[in-house]
Amino acid sequence: MASSQHPSSIADREPMLRVENLQTAFFTDKEVIRACDGVSFDIKPGETVGVVGESGSGKSVTARSIMGLIKSPGRILDGSIQFKGEELTTKSEKEYRQIRGGDIAMVFQDPLTSLNPVYSVGNQIKEALRLHQGLTGTEATKEAINLLEAVGIPDAGRRVREYPHEFSGGMRQRAVIAMALACDPELLICDEPTTALDVTIQAQILELLDELQEERDLAIMFITHDMGVIAEIADRVNVMYAGEIVESAPVVELFENPRHPYTRGLLRSIPGNNPDADRLVTIEGDVPTPNEPATYCRFAPRCPEAFDSCDKVHPVPVAVNDDSEDHAAACLLYPEDVSQSEAIDVHRNAATESEDEL
Ligand code: SF4
Repeated sequence: MASSQHPSSIADREPMLRVENLQTAFFTDKEVIRACDGVSFDIKPGETVGVVGESGSGKSVTARSIMGLIKSPGRILDGSIQFKGEELTTKSEKEYRQIRGGDIAMVFQDPLTSLNPVYSVGNQIKEALRLHQGLTGTEATKEAINLLEAVGIPDAGRRVREYPHEFSGGMRQRAVIAMALACDPELLICDEPTTALDVTIQAQILELLDELQEERDLAIMFITHDMGVIAEIADRVNVMYAGEIVESAPVVELFENPRHPYTRGLLRSIPGNNPDADRLVTIEGDVPTPNEPATYCRFAPRCPEAFDSCDKVHPVPVAVNDDSEDHAAACLLYPEDVSQSEAIDVHRNAATESEDEL
């Protein structure tokens, strides 16, 4: 996380999760929706990677693809998801069940979708402990109480017997995080876990995740549409738009030097970032449904910097300049240290190469 205690050695570590050219599509009678269209990124142990974008950008589909939760009419068409060197896309549902809630756990936006109203919170945590750590009886009860304490639930010995409806919204989300930790995961995927909470509780949950990460060396993939939350929590940020990652950079670099016109628009639209503006700044238009192979820039209809080639060449992620290996943007304006026609050729050639590979 973007906190001072974070180990500086993360950059030298090998990725724990490696997603390469992930293509996940949904097949309807009318069209094929390419919800994830060539998504590639890594997550290292102890690192928090934020994934940000508007609704419909493909953030949650990326997470669900990693978790093996894509159901018909959707499926993974191509690409690779490797977790600690093991390919996940070829796993059977039975094998995936071991991974899900084991090595990789997920926390959703609405804690009520993860909690069963007819079982006590403690019993639900104990069930996860039984399945993934083989604990039962008093041992499991003791560990459930420990976990509730670890996520900051006061009077955990009593609350372990209570039901989800007896918990407040913030406490429920803490309980869901405790359930996820019961599986002792190495990677925690959080899909908008604080969106339904008020800002004070949101800050507490972000702090909790920060502490848990430091104690357990957790890798975290944190999905949100909120740039303010990203600034708080992420080490690295992937900005998604219409099924693609359009910019990727360490968090401070992204906020100080956003390069993709979409990222710039997102940052401009944070309330307070434009004190002189009479009205809130927005990005006009909507995220398009990615329902055809990208042969052009999908952001072009909304881009204030669009030019002729943007309708004809599909931009791929490239280093923004020679000095920034760690900062990539999928935009024809980059690499910025070559002429515009050379930059366009870089993207055109990359698109041709990937077509040849198919
Ligand atoms: S490729 Fe063109 S339309 Fe797309 S973001 Fe860059 S400038 Fe804008």
